[in-house]
Amino acid sequence: MIKKVVFTLSFLLSFFAYLEPKADNPTQEKLIVTASFSILGDVIKNIGGDLVTVNVIVGPNQDTHVYEPTPDDNLLIISSDLVVINGLSFETWFERLVSASGYKKPIIVASQGIPFHKMMEPQISNEPVPDPHVWNDVRHVATWVYNIKKALQEFDPQNAAVYEERATLYLKELQNLDRWIKEQFKDVPEESCKVITAHDAFNYFEKAYGLVFLSPQGLSTTDEPSAHEMASLIKQIKKEKIKTIFVENISSQRLIRQLAAETGAKIGGTLYSDALSTAEEPASTYIKLMESNVKTLAQSLGCFVSPL
Ligand code: ZN
Repeated sequence: MIKKVVFTLSFLLSFFAYLEPKADNPTQEKLIVTASFSILGDVIKNIGGDLVTVNVIVGPNQDTHVYEPTPDDNLLIISSDLVVINGLSFETWFERLVSASGYKKPIIVASQGIPFHKMMEPQISNEPVPDPHVWNDVRHVATWVYNIKKALQEFDPQNAAVYEERATLYLKELQNLDRWIKEQFKDVPEESCKVITAHDAFNYFEKAYGLVFLSPQGLSTTDEPSAHEMASLIKQIKKEKIKTIFVENISSQRLIRQLAAETGAKIGGTLYSDALSTAEEPASTYIKLMESNVKTLAQSLGCFVSPL
């Protein structure tokens, strides 16, 4: 059953698509699924396997917050059977892309059902806004998996058992990952685990795994800190003797290099915040991304890291 819907962003935040099963397909051609960004694309590949061709709009090391859709993206989504986004206002350009392309097929909001939190972002709104960076808590990616699996099963019921099996295997890997991350930081005193990153992408990580993240930018990389905000962060880094700060793969290193120069803190490595790396770098899948971030953080903070 397909329900006619009016497409608005607020609608998208609460929308879980109603899907029309594809017709019997004796040639077993692959479903074409387009993900808004690279981390989501990797999770879809894990569930879809050989049954699905996954396209990604915002690729490795690219910043979804500031992305500008291209004419090629119009072609990409118009040729898709399903499009999957995170939602929670992460893909601010998505509504524009859908109307420009004329895409009318299902849109899956992978974050549907995740207990997201809100934060004050005066540059965006006078009201608290949702924090979209849910993938930094592995348990929330398990909800992505559930939503994506359900959509694939509804769209392609002939292969429902395959999607079920693949999702179950991947969920086991996610459970191991979540357990391993908790183990790494369980005995670390909070005062030795203050982490400075460029933008506010790690609140869910902080709540799930126990470190404290501070950043000069807000939830989006488009936020520019005021001179006062930079000054108070510099004061805090000096006062609390924070020794290490981190650059991110998606954003400019300018603010972090400025903080390092003004505080004497050293740069402890790269965190993969909102995008996978290329295949040659250490974060080319979601699981590798989380492992790489945990190892980078733990080594710089003097924590113990055991093999996954
Ligand atoms: Zn972000």
